[in-house]
Amino acid sequence: MRIGLLRERTPGERRTALTPDVIGRLQQRGYTVLVEHGAGQAAYYSDEDFRAAGAELVATATEVIHHADLLLRLHMPTEAEIEQLRTGQILVGHLQAWRYPERLEQLRARGVTVFALERMPRISRAQSMDILSSMASLAGYKAVIVAAERFGRLLPMMVTAAGTIPPALVLVIGAGVAGLQAIATARRLGARVEAYDIRPAVKEQVESLGARFLPITLDVHDVEQRGGYARELPEEVQRRQREALATYVARADIVITTAAVPERPAPRLITAEMVEAMRPGSVIVDVAAETGGNCELTRPGEWVEHHGVAIFGPLNLPATLPIHASQMLARNFEQFLALFVRDGSPRLHFEDEILRQTCLLHNGTLYPFAEKAVSTP
Ligand code: NAD
Repeated sequence: MRIGLLRERTPGERRTALTPDVIGRLQQRGYTVLVEHGAGQAAYYSDEDFRAAGAELVATATEVIHHADLLLRLHMPTEAEIEQLRTGQILVGHLQAWRYPERLEQLRARGVTVFALERMPRISRAQSMDILSSMASLAGYKAVIVAAERFGRLLPMMVTAAGTIPPALVLVIGAGVAGLQAIATARRLGARVEAYDIRPAVKEQVESLGARFLPITLDVHDVEQRGGYARELPEEVQRRQREALATYVARADIVITTAAVPERPAPRLITAEMVEAMRPGSVIVDVAAETGGNCELTRPGEWVEHHGVAIFGPLNLPATLPIHASQMLARNFEQFLALFVRDGSPRLHFEDEILRQTCLLHNGTLYPFAEKAVSTP
C-alpha cells in the first residue's frame, strides 16, 4: 500500500502528519511512503530528511493523489483536491468533517473511504493513536506560556534584596488533558494553582499535580458520558457554576479555561461582569476559543482587553509547537496505520472497533458503523 503525505494548506498550520523518524517503521510494515514536496517544511523537516529516511519525494499534490492508495492530511482536502480522488482511495486525517458538509458529500459521491481520527474511541488500546489527547497536552502547556508572557508580573515567588515577591495564582477551569498539562506547567513555573472541573473524578489528579481542587458542589449527577467526556449542563446549572466560580476568578492572576463538551459549543463559565471583578493586569487564555470560548468576551484568534484584563482566544495552539506536535501526530498516525496491516498485507479490517468508530465514509455510506460510534456529528 502506498501512503501519500499531502502538504497542509490551511493558513497558520505548521504541523505535518508524518515526520521522517516514522518512515522507516512504516516501510517495515510494508508501506511505501510518498511525500509531497515541502510537506514538512513549516515544521523544519526538510525534503532531504524525508528522502534520507526512505520516502519518495513527489513534486505536487496532484501527483501524490494520483499515485497513493491512502492519503494522509491533517486538515480536510480542498474541493479541487477531492475532485482528483478516486473510488476505493482512503483518506485519513483530523478532518473535522462537521465543518465541511459539502466536502463530505463530495467525498461520498467519489466513493472515497474516510477515517477521521478525532472520532477515536477512548479505550486503552487507542491511547497511542489519540491525536486529540496529544494536541490537547501541547495546547495546555502553551496556554500557560502565552499567559506568562503577557502577564506583567512573575509567576514564581522570588526572594530578592529588593523584597519578596509572592507567587502568582493561576486558576485552571476544565481539568481534562489540556487542563492537567496547564496545571503541571504553571506549577513548574512556580505559581500557586487552583483548578476546577465538573467531573469530580479529576480531583485526585489535580491534587497529585500540587494544585488545589476548588470545593464547588452543584449537586448534579451524571456529569460524565461515555469515554470520560463531560455532558453539556442545563443553562440553570451553568448559571450556578458561574456564581460559584466568581470569587475564584476574581482573585486569580491568570485564568486558563479548557472546558469543553464534544461537538457542542463550549460552556460559558466567565461573564463580562466576572472579568470586571478581576485585577487589572490579569490574563485569561481561553483554550476553548475554537468552539466559542468559555469566556463571553473571548474573540477567537485575538487578544482583547477589558477593564485592564487581557483575554486571548488562541486558535490552533499546537501549530505553534510544530516540531513536537508533528512528531506526536506522526506517532499517532503510525499506530493507526498499523491497524490496516495483518500478516503483512494491508486491508480494511472493519472488525476492529477502532477502524469502525473512526470510519466516516465507506462504499458511499456516511457513518457506516454509526451504531457503534461514540457520537455522530
Ligand atoms: P474535553 O476536551 O472534552 O474537555 C475538557 C475538560 O472540560 C474535561 O475535563 C471536562 O470534564 C471539562 N468540562 C466540560 N464541561 C465543563 C463545565 N461546564 N465546567 C467545568 N469543566 C467542564 O475532554 P478531554 O480533556 O479530551 O478528556 C476528558 C477525559 O477523558 C480525560 O481527563 C480522561 O480521563 C479521558 N480520556 C481517556 C482517554 C482514553 O482512555 N483513551 C483518552 C483521552 C482522555
